[in-house]
Amino acid sequence: MLRNTIRNCSSKIATAIKSSPRGFAATPTETADAVVVGAAGLAVARELALRGREVLVIESAGTFGTGTSSRNSEVIHAGIYYPAKSLKARFCVRGKELLYKYCCDRGIPHKQLGKLIVATSVAEIPKLENLMRFGIANGVEDLRMMEGSDAMRMEPELQCVKALLSPSTGIVDSHSFMLSLLGEAENCKATLSYNTTVVGGHIEGDRLHLHISESKELANNIVDSPVLPQLILIPRLVINSAGLSAVPLARRFDGISRKVVPSPYYARGCYFTLSKTRTPPFNHLIYPMPEDGGIGVHVTIDLSGLVKFGPDVEWISGPDDISSFLNRFDYSVSSDRSARFYPEIRKYFRNLKDGCLEPGYSGIRAKLCGPKQPPQDFMIQGEDVHGVPGLINLFGIESPGLTSSLAIAEYIVSKL
Ligand SMILES: Cc1cc2nc3c(=O)[nH]c(=O)nc-3n(C[C@H](O)[C@H](O)[C@H](O)COP(=O)(O)OP(=O)(O)OC[C@H]3O[C@@H](n4cnc5c(N)ncnc54)[C@H](O)[C@@H]3O)c2cc1C
Repeated sequence: MLRNTIRNCSSKIATAIKSSPRGFAATPTETADAVVVGAAGLAVARELALRGREVLVIESAGTFGTGTSSRNSEVIHAGIYYPAKSLKARFCVRGKELLYKYCCDRGIPHKQLGKLIVATSVAEIPKLENLMRFGIANGVEDLRMMEGSDAMRMEPELQCVKALLSPSTGIVDSHSFMLSLLGEAENCKATLSYNTTVVGGHIEGDRLHLHISESKELANNIVDSPVLPQLILIPRLVINSAGLSAVPLARRFDGISRKVVPSPYYARGCYFTLSKTRTPPFNHLIYPMPEDGGIGVHVTIDLSGLVKFGPDVEWISGPDDISSFLNRFDYSVSSDRSARFYPEIRKYFRNLKDGCLEPGYSGIRAKLCGPKQPPQDFMIQGEDVHGVPGLINLFGIESPGLTSSLAIAEYIVSKL
């Protein structure tokens, strides 16, 4: 619908905009009920559509799930690492429960493999005990502290002095999950407009007006030059779930105080895959102690049995806004980085052979804190924070965002 509107109107728009003193006052407008920016907000779109809202999902890419939602570890987290009562803790624990049920009910491929968080030196034991306390405070009831010898009997390739077993951790096929959310949202009449970008917005009356362009119109945009929208959309509800671009996008909503929009930080995480092995060396997911910015170069096994190590943490700067909307982040994985992986992994997997790590893929964490700063919680902003009725910003949805997605959707809809 939207793309047709854009297509039908686009030729008239350029002239209209040029002659308009405000730049977009003569731009065609349309009203809408609920707009979700970014197709990875599919869980929210589905939940809204199930409640009878008329949902339009606007996605800058040619399909859903090409951003962070397809560049992660695909782990269903238990809810261990986060401070008690934080949104991350609440949504992870609730999201895990909802996600397992969702996958079971619909036959979405997943496996509850369980995970071992390992202390590889005596000095790490207090940190491990701390993690157990965090998990218990968050309502993760099945955690079990194990002696290193017991953990190594369970996993003969493992090296550790103590381990924390989390039986409820698992893995999920994230693409099948998103596809299912999409199908259910569309069954409830949600519409998706691909190759369509929200380039900014302004407040008029008390409503946020979204500025929309076809993504291809932005392809040759010169950095910092003004972007003229092809359509102004006036929704009753806007969910800004643009992932890495959520903060840059909110900054382009003219009329929202800069004070409430946090600074964005980006931390790339690269994965290496294990080659030259027929059978995975481990049956559980294996995690070392968390590090600054991440939860350590861990072992995950995907549903096809492929063993991956990662992600590491590399702080990077973001591109300009439009490049960010078009997902022009640098996702390359340099084979040189493997030199850092070998010693990290050998702390708990001594038999890792030289030359067996191959560059895999990378994902970028949408962070609200920089290097050496304390971790930040998810930030879900409504009118009470920014003063704009009907706008909900989702900022800093890093890990455990995939696990939390159904709980975030449930929370947002309950607040409306
Ligand atoms: C390395 C890594 C590992 C992770 N591992 C896990 C894990 O194991 N378990 C877990 O629970 N979580 C994990 N996460 C977190 C999880 O992947 C994210 O929380 C989740 O995918 C974020 O989804 P999102 O919708 O916020 O962002 P995205 O998936 O990036 O979606 C945002 C969408 O918005 C679109 N978009 C952007 N700007 C615009 C615009 N202006 N107009 C229109 N569309 C726009 C993009 O094209 C994109 O499709 C990991 C994250 C990373 C980086």
